[in-house]
Amino acid sequence: MSDYNVIVIGAGCGGLSLGALLAHKGRSVMVLEQGERVGGCCSTFDYKGYKIDLGASIIEDPEVINWAFQRMGTTFKDEVDLVAVDPTYSAILHDGTRVTYPISLAGTAEAIRKLAPGDVKGWERYSKKMAGFLDAALKGFFTTPASSLGEVVRMFARTPALLKYNAMFFSSYEGVMRKYFKDERVLESMSFHSFYAGLPPALLPGHFAMIPYSEHDGIFYSRGGMIGIPRGFQRCGEKKGMKVRLNAPVKKILIEKGRAKGVLLEDGTEMTADIVVSNINSKKMYFDLVGEEHIPWLAKAGLKSYTYSMATPMLYLCLDYTPPLTDHHTLMTVPMDRMNDYWENHYKKGDFPAEQFGILSWTTKSDPSLAPKGHHVIAVTLAPGPYRLNGTTWDAEKPALIEKIIKFLSGKYLPGLDKHIVHADLSTPVDFERRLRSPEGAIYALRQDLPHSLMFRPSARSPFIRGLYLVGASTHPGGGVPTVTASGMIAADLIEKYEN
Ligand SMILES: Cc1cc2nc3c(=O)[nH]c(=O)nc-3n(C[C@H](O)[C@H](O)[C@H](O)COP(=O)(O)OP(=O)(O)OC[C@H]3O[C@@H](n4cnc5c(N)ncnc54)[C@H](O)[C@@H]3O)c2cc1C
Repeated sequence: MSDYNVIVIGAGCGGLSLGALLAHKGRSVMVLEQGERVGGCCSTFDYKGYKIDLGASIIEDPEVINWAFQRMGTTFKDEVDLVAVDPTYSAILHDGTRVTYPISLAGTAEAIRKLAPGDVKGWERYSKKMAGFLDAALKGFFTTPASSLGEVVRMFARTPALLKYNAMFFSSYEGVMRKYFKDERVLESMSFHSFYAGLPPALLPGHFAMIPYSEHDGIFYSRGGMIGIPRGFQRCGEKKGMKVRLNAPVKKILIEKGRAKGVLLEDGTEMTADIVVSNINSKKMYFDLVGEEHIPWLAKAGLKSYTYSMATPMLYLCLDYTPPLTDHHTLMTVPMDRMNDYWENHYKKGDFPAEQFGILSWTTKSDPSLAPKGHHVIAVTLAPGPYRLNGTTWDAEKPALIEKIIKFLSGKYLPGLDKHIVHADLSTPVDFERRLRSPEGAIYALRQDLPHSLMFRPSARSPFIRGLYLVGASTHPGGGVPTVTASGMIAADLIEKYEN
C-alpha cells in the first residue's frame, strides 16, 4: 500500500490545479514544494509591508481557469477575488507617443484611428479573425492532449474550425501582424506581446499573434497578489484532503521495473505513491530526478535537443509616491525591428543593456492594499535576459544594473522615480533559477516554437516511465497561468483514463 495515490512535485498553478482536481476525484494527493510558498512563477512575496508579485502580473483567458474550478463545483470568481483590468494597457512608444487600448474593441479602434486611420480596417479584420481562432483554440487546443500525431489529428478532427487557421502556425508573429497593420507605430504598440510567449516577433510562431486580441476578452488581477490564484486551487484541493508540504525539495523519482513508485526528498525521506506527477521543468526532471539510466536512447536524444525558454529579469520597486502612470500595465516599446535586433545582437550575445523595453506593472493601481497607504509597488518586466552575461556575471552586475535601469526609467518613463524609491531589487535569470529551481531561469520551461509544440513538447503521460505524468509549462499547451491550468485538466483526464 502506497503512502499516497498521487504525489505532485511542485506547487505551481499546474501542479496545484491537477492536485485539486484529482483530490475531487477521491484520490489521496500530496503536493511537494521546494520553496517556502505556493505558486511558483505566479506567486507573491512580502517585503516590509509591501506585497510584490514574483512573475505573472495578470491573467488572460479567464474562462480556461474557470473550467478547472467548475469541475470542482465552484467558479474562478468565487475562489479568487478578481479585479477586472481595463484598459488592457497603455504603450509608450519609442518616440514618446502614448496609446491606450481599452478592453472594448470599438474603443481600441478609436485609439488606432488617432494613431493611424489607415489601420482601423486592419484592426477590424484582425479582431474578427482572432475571435474565430480564439474560440476554436479554447475548444480544441487548450484542453486536449497532444502527445502523439494521432492525438493531434483527433484534436483537429474534434474542432475542424482550427483547420481554417493552420497557415498561422507556419507563419511568424510578425508575418501575421504585418498582414493586418501597415503603420509601424501600430505594429510597435502590439509587438512586445510576442515575448509573452518567449520569442521575438520574427521567430515566434504566428498563432501567438492572437495574444493582443485575447486581452480584449478580459484580463484580471488577483486582489492581494497573484498568489491568490494558486491559493484558490490549494484551498479547493485541501477541502478534499489534498496535502501541500512546503520546503520539501524532491531529489529523485523512485522507479521500479519501469514504473514510478514514489519520491526521495533531499532530507532523505522516502514517500511512495501509485502515480507521480512532475510540475517542474521536464528536461531537468528526466535527467536529474529520473536519471539517464531509465531513459531510452532515442528519448534521451530528444530530451537533450530541447532548448530552455528565455528568462525575464524583473525589477521590483517599492515607492513612496504615486507613479506618473495611468494603468495597471504600461508597455515600454521599441519598433518590431529593434526587438528582433535585440534578440540577435544583444540577447544571443550575452549582453543586457540598461536602456530597456518591457512592462511596468503598477499592481497597486488595481489593489492599493498591496502597499502602505500612499505607497506603491511596480514590478518591471524587463527585456529577455541572457542566462550567461558576456565577460561578467549577474551577481557582479546587479547593483550597478539596478542603478542604471532606475536612471533610465526616471528619465523616460517615470519622472521622479529615483527620488521615491523605498526599496529596489532585481531578480536576474540566476535568481529565478535559485528561487524556483527553473534551469537558466526559463520562464516558460521550454521554448515555444514549432519544434517544442504539440507532440514535440514532452508528453503529459510519460511514454517510457509508467505512472509518471507531466503538468505545467513543460508540456502541452505550454506556459502562462491559464495554459498550465489547462495542462492540469489534461493530466487529470489522462490519469482518470489510465490509472484506475
Ligand atoms: C517573470 C514572469 C512573468 C510572467 N507573466 C505572466 C503573466 O502576466 N500572465 C501569465 O498568465 N503568465 C505569466 N508568466 C508565466 C506563468 O507565470 C507560468 O507559465 C506559470 O505560472 C508556470 O506554472 P507551472 O505550473 O508550470 O509551474 P511553476 O510556476 O514553474 O512552478 C513549479 C514549482 O515547482 C517547484 N519545484 C522546482 N523544483 C522542485 C523540486 N525538485 N522539488 C519540489 N518542488 C520543486 C518550484 O519551486 C515551483 O514552485 C510569467 C512568468 C514569469 C517568470
